[in-house]
Amino acid sequence: MGYPVTLIRGDGIGPEVAKATQTAIDATGVAIDWKVVDAGIDVMDKYGTPLPEHVLDSIRETKVAIKGPITTPVGTGFRSVNVEIRKQLDLYANLRPAKSIRGVRSYFSDIDLVIVRENTEDLYAGIEFTHDSPEGAEARASLSQLSGKFIREDSAIGVKPISIHGSRQIVEFAFKHAQAFNRKKVTAVHKANIMKFTDGLFLEVARDVAKSYPEIEFEDRIVDNMCMQLMQKPELYDVLVMPNLYGDILSDLCAGMIGGLGVAPGANIGAQYAVFEAIHGSAPKYAGQNRANPTALILSGVLMLQHLEEMEAASRLQQAVESVIAEKKHVTYDLALPRTQPVGTQEMAEAIAQRCGTLSPSS
Ligand code: NAD
Repeated sequence: MGYPVTLIRGDGIGPEVAKATQTAIDATGVAIDWKVVDAGIDVMDKYGTPLPEHVLDSIRETKVAIKGPITTPVGTGFRSVNVEIRKQLDLYANLRPAKSIRGVRSYFSDIDLVIVRENTEDLYAGIEFTHDSPEGAEARASLSQLSGKFIREDSAIGVKPISIHGSRQIVEFAFKHAQAFNRKKVTAVHKANIMKFTDGLFLEVARDVAKSYPEIEFEDRIVDNMCMQLMQKPELYDVLVMPNLYGDILSDLCAGMIGGLGVAPGANIGAQYAVFEAIHGSAPKYAGQNRANPTALILSGVLMLQHLEEMEAASRLQQAVESVIAEKKHVTYDLALPRTQPVGTQEMAEAIAQRCGTLSPSS
């Protein structure tokens, strides 16, 4: 019996990159007992929802899932399936490594950063009031009274909850990740100079957690300075931990530094469950064309193998991806050299699978 893993194929380019990823992971020789399920816009007619309960039940059973991207339908009243999965399963940590791959066009080389983003709190908690609702008026009135500050009458209101619990668990996660992967430094990113009580609390908790990991260097940076530092001296940084909004923005910045969405993997991890997914979306314009780059989801598969503690297989798959991209013979359109023929999604995955088979376990 292999590891039970839920495979959510997603929609748009999802089913193609999901199949490619299955091909590449199977080639490592790690036995996976795939439970294939569907979610997204293609199942809405059948189930009346893009996220049928049996999909969540499958993840609750297998504990580990890998998912293709899912479209967020605009104007239908359905919330994002991706956000809903994270909420339902309390996947509080969003892990987004950004590592340069030779052969991928980018202004930067030798980038090796890990973004750890808090996934459940902050301005993403979904507590918002429109400018013209009675609730908005009430929120403005109470907040004005409580803070003694004037709020314009035509203001919408958003709430930014940052808790000790949420901050502690994400910073602990960052240090444990640093420990497990032999990383030297954790940097907490914040704007505590302005948001003294919310980001201030995050920073206070981060400093406290850092005391339990004396072997790992700790420092903090204000988020705007952090952006500049990443452009100028990225080699000074290692693991970066931050609240939700800064994490969302900085992880895309770092994805850009390694060549873009096609090669940027991710993971959503909680105390009980883990769901691995690429940063990119469902790219509907490429759906069904066997054109999309499968690298980001395959590298999310590398993170999944690490999570399953199949370290040797994970590093072999990573090397296979890097070697196929460096060679440039079997790569999708976005990675191909000018005047060379790109291959399709599945062909690139098969080249990676074949390379994986030729690498010796110790290489
Ligand atoms: P997107 O990432 O789907 O696509 C943006 C562009 O990036 C594409 O047009 C394409 O040029 C390129 N691209 C993305 N992935 C690629 C790949 N694997 N290979 C080659 N090129 C690739 O972003 P979007 O257009 O803003 O979003 C489309 C849909 O996906 C939206 O409904 C959005 O809500 C959803 N989305 C889902 C997730 C997720 O499932 N976690 C994440 C982001 C966006």
